[in-house]
Parts: sequence; structure tokens; C-alpha cells
Amino acid sequence: MIKLTKRQDEILEIVKRNGPITGKEIAEKLSVSRAALRPDLAILTMSGNLDARPRVGYFFNEKLGVKQQAERYIHQKVADFKAHPIVVEKSTSVYDAIVQLFLEDVGTLYAVDSEGHLAGVVSRKDLLRAAIGNRNLQELPVSVIMTRMPNIITIEPEATLFDAAKKMINYHVDSLPVVKEVDNQENTYLLVGRITKTTITRAYLEIMEEKSD
Ligand code: ADP
Repeated sequence: MIKLTKRQDEILEIVKRNGPITGKEIAEKLSVSRAALRPDLAILTMSGNLDARPRVGYFFNEKLGVKQQAERYIHQKVADFKAHPIVVEKSTSVYDAIVQLFLEDVGTLYAVDSEGHLAGVVSRKDLLRAAIGNRNLQELPVSVIMTRMPNIITIEPEATLFDAAKKMINYHVDSLPVVKEVDNQENTYLLVGRITKTTITRAYLEIMEEKSD
């Protein structure tokens, strides 16, 4: 897909809102001459963004519009969509972790060490497995049952939602801790958020709702 210029984006917006609209009317809205717009209109028509009908004007191509909107959306930054991480100390008991899971209404907890660095991930299934096999959940720390560093799949705030979606699917996990690496300390991360499959689903819904507005 070609990258549109700012001017071409402006034209698309105008046609989206006002189409069908003639080249002359678009030029007036942008306060430029028709001749100056001709190359942009040619590019937008050839690339399929716009349809043109003689004597009627330009129309917005809805189908391509959705694809572009989805594309723009999927390239949004993790930083802008991340939720608060729900965190427990790694010495927290499995019992308290289960209570926390219900209280916070989440599927995954992140465990941190005494310095607040990411130490583990505790999912629903981890907790269920522990609950089946152990009597005394109040004595059992989550550090025994969690998935720990360096096996945690993380994502950085600057990554895109697309990167996050791919990682969750490829590694079969429901959530990713959003982290910043601590300077000069390998595998030592500060937790700054979480991205879940729900985040991605919500993002998808937002595109579609924006479309039908
Ligand atoms: P659930 O257990 O509710 O199905 P997940 O599919 O996310 O949730 O977790 C499956 C397993 O993967 C669990 O053992 C969990 O500890 C681990 N896990 C979850 N998220 C991550 C992650 N980001 N990186 C590494 N392991 C993870």
C-alpha cells in the first residue's frame, strides 16, 4: 500500500465527508487551483482510494478505506493502549493471588521481586493447576508456580499493536507485560503496563465503530 502525503490524506477526508464532490469543489475547500490538485487526484484514483464518475465527481472507496483504517490502527503504539499491570509480590501466596485475580477481574497477574522488577507471570491455569495439587494454598508462594524470567514474552511501549498481536498468537499467551529494560542489566525489566487479547479486540471494535459513525 502506498504511503499518502498529507495533502492526499486531506483530500480523502474531504471526499469521505462530502462525496460525491467535484475536483473544483475539492480545490476550493483546500484553497488551491484545480491544476495543482490533478496529480494527487490521479494518484488517489489509480491507487483505488477514490472512484471518479464523469459529471458527478469523486467518491470514497469504502472497502479500501476500511483496510487503510485497519492498517493505520494496527500500527498504533502499545504505549497508547496498554492497561495498568496487576502486580503481586512474588512471595504472595497462591491463595491471595487467586483472591487478587477475582478482585481485579483479570486473567493474568505479574509477579515482581523486592526491587519491583518483573519476575514472573501467573495465569489462570497456573493457579488452577496449583489449586488442584496443593492443600495449603496460603503457604505456597506464587514464585513456585509462575512462569519466570527469562522465559517471559514481553513487549516494549514503542512496539505496535500488530507486534503485540503476533507475539500473543505465536507464543500462545493471553497477555504481554509492557516493559522497559533497566539500563545495562540484561533481563531486568520495569513493568509499565499490560497488553491482552482484549486490548486487541477492543482496538478492532474501535476501528469498526469509527467506520459506521
Ligand atoms: P491461561 O493460563 O489462562 O490459559 P495463558 O494462555 O496466558 O493463560 O497462559 C498459559 C501459560 O503461559 C501459563 O503457564 C502462563 O504462566 C504462561 N504465560 C502467560 N503469559 C506469558 C508471557 N507473556 N510470557 C511467558 N509465559 C506466559
